[in-house]
Amino acid sequence: FGFKNVPEHMKEAMVRQVFANVATKYDIMNDVMSGGIHRLWKDHFIRTLAPTPGTKLLDVAGGTGDIAMRFLDYCKDTHGDNSAQVTVFDINPNMLEVGKERFSKTQYHSTSQVSFMEGNAENLEHIPDNTMDAYTIAFGIRNCTHVDRVLKEAHRVLKPGGRFMCLEFSKVENPVISKAYDIFSFDVIPAMGQMVANDRDSYQYLVESIRKFPPQKEFATMIKQAGFTVMGQGYEDLTFGVAAIHSGWKL
Ligand code: SAM
Repeated sequence: FGFKNVPEHMKEAMVRQVFANVATKYDIMNDVMSGGIHRLWKDHFIRTLAPTPGTKLLDVAGGTGDIAMRFLDYCKDTHGDNSAQVTVFDINPNMLEVGKERFSKTQYHSTSQVSFMEGNAENLEHIPDNTMDAYTIAFGIRNCTHVDRVLKEAHRVLKPGGRFMCLEFSKVENPVISKAYDIFSFDVIPAMGQMVANDRDSYQYLVESIRKFPPQKEFATMIKQAGFTVMGQGYEDLTFGVAAIHSGWKL
């Protein structure tokens, strides 16, 4: 079926299919489509999280482990810490496989610093209450059917004092940049998906899902409604709002 205007009850199955399709090409496509900017955003995301030694992180929709790898590298490089731990959590076994393969070539392989878990962000049933220091979700939450359930689960598993952080595509306010970005995303990205990964539909879906996701302020309100305390407006725009970092504390 086409990926446009999918009814709610079919979204999860469709998202699974999209990421099963793109898994092996995922990392290279990120670089191609963002011109490498996603790396800068992710680096900034981890610096903003500023994990302290021994931090236990749950990285939801962790995919191929990009955030997890940066997190462990940051802990090692900044604090000489090798006691930080991350669980890469994702609904899609294909994405997790690419992640495992990637970690198998690093010093973190076979250590307790990294583990992988398959499941739905809307139901973290195997993760007990109040057990995580930090929860991250990067470019994942817009793929979830019930964002409110995702936020509630994030709040449940965090320890008091724990931090929720989300990196996601967002809304560009500046009308000139917004116009250019629309052309890029509606025309260029699906065409690149076709050329590099021979899969126009999956990339078309990715663009549509960005457009449908709530704007910065609305999403910040949802985070507060889930019980988090936010500082200031609760988010930071990156690259004119092409992406944004939202953050909240469980107090
Ligand atoms: N966080 C990684 C990154 O920034 O490179 C991967 C982002 S990728 C665009 C989105 C990921 O979300 C995919 O791996 C997909 O399988 C996962 N995903 C989609 N829906 C999910 C859900 N309901 N629960 C958990 N993961 C989900």
